[in-house]
Amino acid sequence: MLNRRKFLHLSALAAPLLAAKRSFANGLAETTKPIVISTWDSGMAVNAEAWKVLSANGKALDAVEAGARQIEDTINCCVGLGGYPDRDGIVTLDSCIMDEHANCGAVAGLERIKHPVSVARRVMEKTPHVILVGAGAQQFALENGFSLETGALSEDAKKAYAEWLKKTEYKPVINIETRKTNGPFAPKFFDDGSPNHDTMGLLAMDNANNLSGAVTTSGMAFKLHGRVGDSPIIGAGLFVDNEVGAATSSGVGEEVIRICGTHLVVEFMRQGLSPEQACQKAVERIIKRDREKAKTMQVGFLAMNKNGEYGAYAIQRGFVYSVKSDKENQIHNSKYIFAIN
Ligand code: ASP
Repeated sequence: MLNRRKFLHLSALAAPLLAAKRSFANGLAETTKPIVISTWDSGMAVNAEAWKVLSANGKALDAVEAGARQIEDTINCCVGLGGYPDRDGIVTLDSCIMDEHANCGAVAGLERIKHPVSVARRVMEKTPHVILVGAGAQQFALENGFSLETGALSEDAKKAYAEWLKKTEYKPVINIETRKTNGPFAPKFFDDGSPNHDTMGLLAMDNANNLSGAVTTSGMAFKLHGRVGDSPIIGAGLFVDNEVGAATSSGVGEEVIRICGTHLVVEFMRQGLSPEQACQKAVERIIKRDREKAKTMQVGFLAMNKNGEYGAYAIQRGFVYSVKSDKENQIHNSKYIFAIN
């Protein structure tokens, strides 16, 4: 006869099996891991770098840092020191990182330092603070072994800035689709033909089922000096909750900050929405505030839950994202509300 202790022991062993059976009966997918997802088609190269870490059984935190460093090393309109400057001709970088324990670190308005994501990680790991800005962030970076770069604009940035100076209009027409004229997944362009958008946000889940995320950007091109967008703000440009999922964003940062965008997406997932549904609800929240204004701008959210399911939603057509797992390595089109262009 089964005694009570033995019965409890057997029930405990059976519980996970029953739960698994139940979840399949409910149509829930098996967990996909490891996996990394990132904003835009530039995310393909970023994912490849993150995948080196994940496929070697590494941590999601190390993976997202490695991925972000990849794009910080390239000449890109909107990330790293090769990015477009602010209206005073200075490149200022924003970045943040967050791990499975809700540890997080960020830098904003950082000048002449090549890898803001690694400085953000250092802020997270070596200080009691979350965000360092401007000269203080740079001082911290230098004290922690990062080198001071020249501050010279990349050739691309120089050209775009010279062009912008002709009109000096701040006009972030972000990511309105230009696919017809510029080929598939072409970056989006200002009226003068220069791309103004490619902020990198990436989310990863490792083999241990832990989530982390990172964001890195030079922010909106030709912004006011000192302007900080959503990208380095935890809960706006990035949020990770290891019980539920993670989210990141790209687009007009002010609109994302107003609704605490990525925190909102994660909370919607906590309520049971899929990543895509959660992103859609956050986009709708922005549109509800000012529908006409929303028609003139882009914001895209990208999210992943603890099953490794992912999804995105954007205000406008044209937001794309990249996914890498054992099952796939490709770019997806995000769903959207307006197809104005
Ligand atoms: N979200 C970024 C910012 O507002 C811009 C972007 O996504 O390109 O700075």
